[in-house]
Amino acid sequence: STSPPTHDNYLVIGGCGFLGRHIVDALLGRGETNVAVFDIVQRHFDENVTFYTGDISKLEDVAAAIAKSGAMIVIHTASPPHGRGAAVYEAVNVTGTQNVIEACRTAAVPKLVYTSSAGVVYSGKEDLINADERLPYPAVPMDAYNDTKARAEALVLAANSDDLLTCALRPSGIFGPGDRQAISGFHSVIKNGQTKFQIGSNENLFDWTYVGNVAHAHLLAADRLDQTYPVAGLHEPLPWVNLSLP
Ligand code: NAD
Repeated sequence: STSPPTHDNYLVIGGCGFLGRHIVDALLGRGETNVAVFDIVQRHFDENVTFYTGDISKLEDVAAAIAKSGAMIVIHTASPPHGRGAAVYEAVNVTGTQNVIEACRTAAVPKLVYTSSAGVVYSGKEDLINADERLPYPAVPMDAYNDTKARAEALVLAANSDDLLTCALRPSGIFGPGDRQAISGFHSVIKNGQTKFQIGSNENLFDWTYVGNVAHAHLLAADRLDQTYPVAGLHEPLPWVNLSLP
């Protein structure tokens, strides 16, 4: 169900990306009137959305956008696409997220929601079955993307305080209109004739979530990111989970 608009100032970082755009659409769709976007490239042009162009790995860029937008709620979805070098992931995911946190603190932004990834707890070697938030990060991360997503997530959760409430969401695969990676990846597998190979027993499962539902989850997290709900920061063990259930 759709919550009513809060009429707070929202800034969606990475708001010209696949998920970021769906978050912008969901905010506008529920009647929010103060929606701004920060992205390294402007791919959308709406009259009712303010676009700031810049690079989150540069503190001055993201600090200017957060200050100018008067953001009360920052939703940070930016990340480089798959297949980039480790230095790019380090700069954008780790330094960039640190910059977002610092800029939020400087501008006294009360809420920060971060798009993490299910991959932060996946080593690439062992299946994850019924995993939840108590699972530790793997000792040896699968790759630079997942390593830097995990370190960015840890920074966001550790930054949680009464002044800046933070949380991180971990989607698995995301599908839907506007996808920039999954379908093109499937397409190139078909185009390159790679469908005749089978890896494993063909019984492995992988989670996918519709992009509209992932966007909705970000709005719910922002709405409930409040001292009265146990959403913010790190919780061990999770207070709302009855661990004795079978
Ligand atoms: P996307 O590439 O479509 O969107 C990311 C956006 O970030 C782009 O618009 C890009 O221009 C922007 N960006 C990249 N570098 C930037 C920089 N230095 N400064 C400012 N903006 C920058 O990707 P997506 O699929 O929408 O992913 C959104 C988030 O969800 C990412 O954090 C990703 O790690 C996470 N995620 C995605 C999936 C998936 O299946 N797509 C799964 C799990 C987690």
